Amino acid sequence: LAERLEDAWKKLRGQDKISQSNIQEALKEVRRALISADVNLQVVKGFVAEVEKKALGAEVISGVNPGQQFIKIVYDELVKVMGESNIPLAKASTPPTVILMAGLQGTGKTTATAKLALFLRKEKRTCLMVATDVYRPAAIDQLITLGQQIEVPVFEMGTDADPVEIARLGVEKAKELGVDTVIIDTAGRLQIDQDMMGELARIKATVKPDDTLLVVDAMTGQEAATLTHTFHEQIGITGAILTKLDGDTRGGAALSVRQVSGQPIKFVGVGEKVEALQPFYPERMASRILNMGDVLTLVEKAQEELDLSDVEKMQSKILQAQFDFNDFLKQMRLLKNMGSLGGLLKLIPGMGKLSGSDIAKGETELKRTESMINSMTKEERANPDLLASSPGRRRRIAKGSGHSESDVSNLIKNFTRMRAMMKQMGQGGMPAMPGMPGM
Ligand code: GDP
Ligand code: MG
Repeated sequence: LAERLEDAWKKLRGQDKISQSNIQEALKEVRRALISADVNLQVVKGFVAEVEKKALGAEVISGVNPGQQFIKIVYDELVKVMGESNIPLAKASTPPTVILMAGLQGTGKTTATAKLALFLRKEKRTCLMVATDVYRPAAIDQLITLGQQIEVPVFEMGTDADPVEIARLGVEKAKELGVDTVIIDTAGRLQIDQDMMGELARIKATVKPDDTLLVVDAMTGQEAATLTHTFHEQIGITGAILTKLDGDTRGGAALSVRQVSGQPIKFVGVGEKVEALQPFYPERMASRILNMGDVLTLVEKAQEELDLSDVEKMQSKILQAQFDFNDFLKQMRLLKNMGSLGGLLKLIPGMGKLSGSDIAKGETELKRTESMINSMTKEERANPDLLASSPGRRRRIAKGSGHSESDVSNLIKNFTRMRAMMKQMGQGGMPAMPGMPGM
């Protein structure tokens, strides 16, 4: 998916504006990409139409090329479809909160039951897990073992009892114990069948859960849409847990589940261990689906923080090689405004690998540079060549800033080299970040 979208992006990169004609190729790529990521066809259609509408209506932002802008629109729409923000578990006004788990066999319901219980326990909440899968003795044992592992009690009545009755008594037991949440694990089937649906519906009618969570295996792909539709129509779900996202699935199911049911994905399972549960964040999922690091966050941040008229002025200065120490200082301050250098570098794909000490070094270097520039006179800042030719001036700056003369000489050397480089690089959507001495 990522590669495909990147293709679409590249196709737009050379263009200077998003238009009806140049966007068609890119939209086709988005459509193809989502289909190959197993997003349901109907969902894809609606999604692409919405992206097209937004892209054509988008204002041109200077400093951001149309390719970047298009990707951002795709990303924003993905986030929107997946629900904007994380929706927490329901909480009953009078405990216990009842959570009902539903889903096909093998999707990870029992595991997710224990994961949720552990998650809540970490929030200092108390749980009871209820085993209603009476069809496989191993299923009850599985929950008991998990319960021991995470120190959460399990309510079970063996394999002869009626699942609806177990669920009802389980909730009674939770009240008796005074726990605040009861999680009911249920039996799945390999395929949707009316026995399972009937049983789930009866359990639901009996215990009136605050949250009915559909557990969906992320590897289900295309099927996720039909599955979700059927469960939602027959049982009525209030949310979903997407499991097995630790595999190399593309996450297309997330889009389908949300779009088909209108219900939020609340958690994702990212491994077999009981700790491997995370709240679902639409932004993260969109980034994952696009697989572009956090490059979009960077575009967004840059857009917010840079004063665009400043950027344009700076660009023309760079082109004319008039870039001086005043501009340099300004760029350094912009960089600072955009958050710590470390945070910023982490957002750039490939730069995340910089170690903490590299980043700290860079930040120290920035501070040193700033203090040296502060010791320059107005005239010197505006005309860096004055410094190259005068050891006296360099000595004065070294003294004033508390650095050595060779530090000052290095700064000037690096600055001159950078200015020459900038001139060569010439244009480009965004201004080049200053080459930082020492990095
Ligand atoms: P159930 O039939 O729906 O109750 O499914 P189980 O909870 O028994 O899980 C079925 C299998 O999937 C087990 O082997 C689990 O360890 C595995 N599983 C569950 N959740 C995850 C997950 O998030 N990641 C991975 N890799 N495996 C999972
Ligand atoms: Mg199970």
